[in-house]
Amino acid sequence: MTAKVWDVVIIGGGPAGLAAAVYSARGGLSTLIVERGLFGGQIFNTAHVENYPGFPGGLSGPEISQRLEEQAREFGAETLLAEVLEVELKGDPKVITTSEGEIRGHTIIVASGAGARKLGVDGEDRLIGAGVSYCATCDGAFYRGKKVAVVGGGDSAVEEALFLTRFAEEVHLIHRRASLRAAKILQDRAFSNPKIKFHWNSVVTEIIGETKVERLRLQDTDGRTSELPVDGIFIYVGQTPYTHFLRGQLPVNQRGYLVADETTETPVPGVFAAGDVREKVLRQVVTAVADGAVAAVMAEKYLAHIAG
Ligand code: NAP
Repeated sequence: MTAKVWDVVIIGGGPAGLAAAVYSARGGLSTLIVERGLFGGQIFNTAHVENYPGFPGGLSGPEISQRLEEQAREFGAETLLAEVLEVELKGDPKVITTSEGEIRGHTIIVASGAGARKLGVDGEDRLIGAGVSYCATCDGAFYRGKKVAVVGGGDSAVEEALFLTRFAEEVHLIHRRASLRAAKILQDRAFSNPKIKFHWNSVVTEIIGETKVERLRLQDTDGRTSELPVDGIFIYVGQTPYTHFLRGQLPVNQRGYLVADETTETPVPGVFAAGDVREKVLRQVVTAVADGAVAAVMAEKYLAHIAG
């Protein structure tokens, strides 16, 4: 693996990285995808995706993931299961240090995605896996007939609150403002679901429990505190982009997302940013795969340019 210089090294095997691999491998470029866990990224943990065009009735997240991976392999993309530790982006070839050794590439597509942001309150870290979760698809079934809370007011919080009503007896949606940020279709479904109770203008200040979650301490905007007994809490308060391995070599905006426009080009020649890790207005599978396709085509153009 070390001697070879790949045309394209893709960091991250979510929808953006896999779509980039489909395009670059199909375009005849030697392509390596480095992924640290499961292919599919965040979508792997999504029960049902109903807004990906061309699939009426929707598809499960794992199914989309598996199809994307299969398609990338079909065209000859190779994969390496490893954690990217650091990268040296300047010059040619660019060097990627991973947990499985060093990799070299003429171009790099950073498609490392984003992950759950923590609330940062007492009890959160201590009770992860004991009632604190960031993945309803993974853990929802443990709460059959129980009471759970969901924190947040975006698409994720509302979608996952709806999903949790399949199992839980009550779903308490706790949001810091008086209106949701989620898409209207999701809001309408949530408002008409009798299992979902809304706690507006409220934040969770502590997660309480000896060995598992027993109750939450809430505070409203007037400073009033209360306690809410629940068996589990699902936290959906936004995301943090995964850029730690870049060690400041690419510019980020104030929320930590890589700065690159729709060409996916970063200020470093031969380095592209695709998918949720990139600054953008809409984070969806459809925009991630679009980024991946653009990044692969831009990488191809760059390779043709350096080849003279
Ligand atoms: P998001 O849209 O950033 O929403 C985060 C929510 O958490 C907001 O309601 C925010 O409140 C709240 N929040 C942030 N920090 C908080 C804190 N410290 N305490 C309490 N609440 C806090 O994140 P997301 O829902 O994870 O979605 C991420 C992206 O994926 C979005 O672009 C979304 O559209 C997309 N997505 C789409 C779908 C779909 O189309 N089906 C599904 C899932 C995700 P404020 O509203 O007050 O800021």
